[in-house]
This record gives sequence, structure tokens and C-alpha cells, in this order.
Amino acid sequence: MDEILGQVLRNAVWERLDMLSELANRADAPSLLSVARSELPRLTEGWRAMLAAHEPDDRGNCPACSSRWRQQKAPCSVWQAAYEHLVAGGLAPNPNNARHAIAEPAPKATTRTASPGRLASAR
Ligand SMILES: [Zn+2]
Repeated sequence: MDEILGQVLRNAVWERLDMLSELANRADAPSLLSVARSELPRLTEGWRAMLAAHEPDDRGNCPACSSRWRQQKAPCSVWQAAYEHLVAGGLAPNPNNARHAIAEPAPKATTRTASPGRLASAR
């Protein structure tokens, strides 16, 4: 039963992310502004909650990723993913995409096929 609930939960999250990507790629400007105002705070709160759980302890280990037998040094994969997506390139303006982001639909190829890789790298 836990396995089924876990699958339902994961599918719901992937579908939500797909929906937000679809909106970012296709919604008109007023709709996009409305979605950004409601969803950006939820996303930032989600990141904050997740990162708080992965803050290093006094010995510099991640308590969420460590087990009794194996310690995970900080920064763990969650913090590395956060840096990669939020700082290294995630929020930086891309001059090549800025003008065409609203008018042109995004390529379809990477939306679903990239998911398992992203999931695996976040563990
Ligand atoms: Zn961690």
C-alpha cells in the first residue's frame, strides 16, 4: 500500500511540474503573470522547506541523507541540485530565449524523458 501511495504522490508531483512547464511555455502574458504570482511563492517555500531538512549538522553532515551507518557530507545532492538550478543557471536570464519564450512553444522532447534522470540525481 505504501508503494502505491508513493507512486500516486510522485505522479501527482510530476504532473504538477509538467503543468507548470506547459503554462510557462504556452500561457499568454496576463495568465503567466497570475500563475507566477501564485506559484512562485509556493515553489520558493517548497525549496526552503526541502533545503531546511538538508541543512548540515554540527559535524558538516546532511541529517536527511545520512544513515546510522553512512554519513553524507554536506553539501548533499539536494543542495547541489538547488545550486545548479537556482543559482548556476536556473534564474539567470537567457538572452536567446527571452524574446521567444511566450510566442513559441517549447520543444516537446525533454519534458517527460528527463524526469527519471532528474529524480535520480536529486536523491
Ligand atoms: Zn541531504
